[in-house]
Amino acid sequence: MTAPLARTEPNALRRGSCPSVATPMQTGDGLLVRLRPVAPALSARDLVAIATLAREHGNGLIEITARGNLQLRGLTEASVPRLAAGLEAAGIAPQTGVAIETPPLAGIDPSETANAAPLADALRRAIAEASLVLAPKLAIVVDGGGVLCLADMVADIRLDAAAEGTAWRLSVGGDRATANGIGLFPAGDVIDRTMAVVAALAANGPAARGRDLDARMLAARLDAAVAPERLSASARHPIGSHSIGTETVLGLAPAYGQMHADRLAALAHALEACGATEYRLAPHRTLLARGLEERGLAEAKRVAEREGFWSADDAPGRSISICAGAAGCASAAFDTRAAADALVAHAGVLLDGSVDLHVSGCPKGCAHPAKAAVTLCGTAAGIGLVLDGRAGDPPATLLPADTLKPAIERLGSFLLSGRREKETAQSLLERTAPAALVSAFQGQQ
Ligand code: SF4
Repeated sequence: MTAPLARTEPNALRRGSCPSVATPMQTGDGLLVRLRPVAPALSARDLVAIATLAREHGNGLIEITARGNLQLRGLTEASVPRLAAGLEAAGIAPQTGVAIETPPLAGIDPSETANAAPLADALRRAIAEASLVLAPKLAIVVDGGGVLCLADMVADIRLDAAAEGTAWRLSVGGDRATANGIGLFPAGDVIDRTMAVVAALAANGPAARGRDLDARMLAARLDAAVAPERLSASARHPIGSHSIGTETVLGLAPAYGQMHADRLAALAHALEACGATEYRLAPHRTLLARGLEERGLAEAKRVAEREGFWSADDAPGRSISICAGAAGCASAAFDTRAAADALVAHAGVLLDGSVDLHVSGCPKGCAHPAKAAVTLCGTAAGIGLVLDGRAGDPPATLLPADTLKPAIERLGSFLLSGRREKETAQSLLERTAPAALVSAFQGQQ
């Protein structure tokens, strides 16, 4: 089933909005389209179709985002309509409207508290019918629990299943632990109550986010009888093998969240030969494969590694965000992937997951707009080292691109030599003087 595809709106080609097929975003390597298919289950044929379209109409670079969306890069104003037509011809309907996230195995995982999908669909319809003007990046999570729940996903509005699915906890502005609870509502009332919160956001203007709402005031207005307690935000990482009922689901992540279309198509063909029957996009840049028998699992992991996908949740590069770099973007000053590989090889001390690292081809910082503990950023004057900042922040020091690898080696060796037993990268960086890090990077020690 396909939905009508909207015409590209040139005015929407901007940062700050949520890029889609109808409203692509201008980046340094052309237009970027974010794609979340309506159907949660994709076939190998669907993946190959997406790969083919990414290659034909973009630069072939495909990303899976932290929220489990696909991003196709390097498109043009002329090629976006052709992409839209290609998706329609392939029967892949992109989701539109407010982003409402549900666990990737909603309705499949027997350990979930409730199937979040019907509630999410009803909420999507209610929001569309209300025709409200909401923040473009507004995010709603409907989490029914289960092995791959969304407890750690931050959202403007959260609904968490409670009381064996007969009630939902409504909260705003955070993940399951940090969001401010409004109340616990019976399943039959929860759409109305959630729509009251959505209307409150709309009333605060088109930039209003969940964190701006007063949860206590809303609880009083909605006559919430129960003040819900704070819950845990611990969630299993989707990379790796998971026992879901009687089946095993394999989570694979393209290295650094990126893959070339050819690798995705090759992976789809190879996994099909291993017995995989269905694919689902998942948070933390992951693609889930279903249908693998025990005997096909080891081979599936092997072919995934061969095609540049991680299959273990301790893959050291997980905490590194990279942009297209010189391989896909004219604005890039260096090969970001090679630099990330050098970090993995020589600065593993930074990669325990306690801090984010960012490798950016230029100060635009497409891959990680937020601050990172360590950023390597390409500039006209060389590769900058930014500590606890964004790619566009002034670098602490600059080095020529061809000296980057030994600089990373020196930084890694320096930090490793000073690390205390079982110390995290976050603690190590916090107690190390920035000047010492800069000296090590420059080779002045
Ligand atoms: S950050 Fe990377 S992808 Fe974005 S414009 Fe710069 S080089 Fe290109």
